[in-house]
Amino acid sequence: MTTSEQKPVDAEVDVCVVGGGATALFAALRCARSGRTVIVVSPDAQFEPAGAGISPLLAPPTLGLLAAEGVEEELLAGGQRVLGADDYGPAGLLSRWRYADQPGIARPYGLTVPTGTLVQALLRALRAEPAAAVRTGRTVTAVDQDGDGVLLTFAAAEAPASAQGPDRVRARYAVAADGRRSALRELVGIPVRDSLFGRPGWLIAAPVVPDREPVLLVRHPAPQALFTVPTPGSSMAVVWCPDRQQEQALAQGGAQALVEQVKAVDPELADWLTGAAERTSPAFRIDFSMWRAASWRAGRVLLLGEAAHGLHTLGGQGLNQSLHSAVSLARAVHEAVTGGDGSRVDAYERIRRPYVERLQDLQWNTPALRSYSAEPPERGAHQDFIDVMTTLQPELAAQLAAGTV
Ligand SMILES: Cc1cc2nc3c(=O)[nH]c(=O)nc-3n(C[C@H](O)[C@H](O)[C@H](O)COP(=O)(O)OP(=O)(O)OC[C@H]3O[C@@H](n4cnc5c(N)ncnc54)[C@H](O)[C@@H]3O)c2cc1C
Repeated sequence: MTTSEQKPVDAEVDVCVVGGGATALFAALRCARSGRTVIVVSPDAQFEPAGAGISPLLAPPTLGLLAAEGVEEELLAGGQRVLGADDYGPAGLLSRWRYADQPGIARPYGLTVPTGTLVQALLRALRAEPAAAVRTGRTVTAVDQDGDGVLLTFAAAEAPASAQGPDRVRARYAVAADGRRSALRELVGIPVRDSLFGRPGWLIAAPVVPDREPVLLVRHPAPQALFTVPTPGSSMAVVWCPDRQQEQALAQGGAQALVEQVKAVDPELADWLTGAAERTSPAFRIDFSMWRAASWRAGRVLLLGEAAHGLHTLGGQGLNQSLHSAVSLARAVHEAVTGGDGSRVDAYERIRRPYVERLQDLQWNTPALRSYSAEPPERGAHQDFIDVMTTLQPELAAQLAAGTV
């Protein structure tokens, strides 16, 4: 028995989820609704408020999973429907597709939703679950494991004195859903490999261009690429990946330089942004990278979401894949606990990790994401990604349908 085990624990549960983002809350909700006792422990004194944060594009299969937990109405009320994608090369339209035309599609649209709106919807649902508890203002500082479970020690994070939380939690399984710099992952010693794509982009938020169909619009004359996606509140996100010579001007000139540079690629957009300069955000540089943990599990500690992997931002899959993994994890943990067979938890990493790593490989091997000298595309760059954006991983669908793996 270790010294820490001699003290009484403050909470004893099936699953302790460390983290306070949408991925953590969704995993906790799925665990609670499958009958598991759950505690979520987050360092933030408050969760992200509705309407705050970036607005990732949630794909139809993800919306289907969220709808099954009864949170879809709140998301639709606070989100912006996106109908598909138009992809232009130097010589014109390369591809145009709409969600509605995809066979068996869960919803005929994707939805951009502020992460805060998703967090609040999931939090409300979780707080209504008798088997779930939520604690804030605590950060994980130690972890001990034995054959039956895991003991987590927490210390006060920078939080108001009123923040309540257990200092020690004993759980059958712990989930590290605490993001890219996961403290729990560090504590269990799982290394992470980080790879930089080497071509940055600049992001601005602006009022949406009137009378344009709400689709993801991609223009890539090569080596530059321009992406616009409608976001809630009649806004849009614009991401501009310039050629190398234009980068310095962007670093110095911000949003104004961005507008100048996109003129040659989308003059209508540039004109609109010039008129909307007062309502446009500053330009943020994004250094695209991907990362992968060497393993998604250390004993009874499971890595989830950005604690396990990072994808190229322009693929629009980071949150989608994290939420898909959350349902796989919850199912595997449930079966391991109820079946009394710990090996059943292996299904999570066995099903999800190869799929996510294949996606990362697909992104890594897309020349335009890493090179300034890539040839202009001859077909829609999104062609390879349509499956990912419209269907649930077949092995995950089978896991959920079968209830056993
Ligand atoms: C500009 C941009 C656009 C994007 N667009 C898309 C898109 O269109 N589609 C898509 O699917 N994805 C998109 N993504 C990616 C997506 O936003 C992320 O993949 C996703 O939000 C990650 O979720 P997460 O819950 O794993 O991590 P996070 O959201 O980072 O959550 C981590 C949580 O852990 C908490 N935490 C941190 N440290 C600790 C600690 N020590 N102890 C406990 N908790 C801790 C944090 O407070 C936070 O609550 C985009 C990202 C960016 C930057």
